[in-house]
Amino acid sequence: MSATENLQAVLAEIENARLKRTVARDEEITLVAVTKNHGVELMREVIDAGANNIGENRIQEAAEKFQILNRNVTRHLIGHLQSNKVKQAVKLFDLIQSVDSRHLAEALDKAAALVPKIQDILIQVNLARESQKSGVELENLNPLISFVEESKNLRLRGLMMIAPNFTNPEDCRPLFAQMRILFDKLKTSRKDFDFLSMGMTNDYKIAIEEGANVVRLGTAIFGERSLTNGNHR
Ligand SMILES: *Cc1c(COP(=O)(O)O)cnc(C)c1O
Repeated sequence: MSATENLQAVLAEIENARLKRTVARDEEITLVAVTKNHGVELMREVIDAGANNIGENRIQEAAEKFQILNRNVTRHLIGHLQSNKVKQAVKLFDLIQSVDSRHLAEALDKAAALVPKIQDILIQVNLARESQKSGVELENLNPLISFVEESKNLRLRGLMMIAPNFTNPEDCRPLFAQMRILFDKLKTSRKDFDFLSMGMTNDYKIAIEEGANVVRLGTAIFGERSLTNGNHR
């Protein structure tokens, strides 16, 4: 199947999963097509087929591709961001999904002020406390939210989570549900707090059923990322 055909199939699956929800059934689900390791031709193909959000995880790769992409599309940074790359990040991305420390938020705030722009961000939560993963742990979430909300050039748009890579994706279900409860609680007292980004190829249907309203899909659209498509130009 082509990426365009996969995209259509995925959109249908997203709709099915949304209809299985017990909460927030009217909510719109945003699909972020994860284009890391794929070339601009393929990126243009899916954008022209209707994908209006794309996700990248590396600054250098994104900078090179965006320069020649020549398409109007919303750009998400989904990978870990080092604070020495914030200047580039604020220029390249509409939504930075991976903010997980005060140090990074502070650096982003300063970089956004220089553009100048108000940078939309999500806070990445490490709900499962996986030591090898980025994300703020639950007990440090509220202080980070407060810090971001005091930062003049940042706008907090919601939360992001990367679920553990369980053999059975059903095992992620309670974590997704827990994130939705947390998200709803925070949302009641905030405006512009709209996005709960969780769910990848292996687990996106379950994530949507439990309340994700942003899913980040690479493999489901483009197939496996191999080393041979690592040359993105
Ligand atoms: C690569 C990546 C994805 C997409 O993963 P697939 O399993 O290919 O859908 C989603 N989110 C993040 C943070 C990623 O790095």
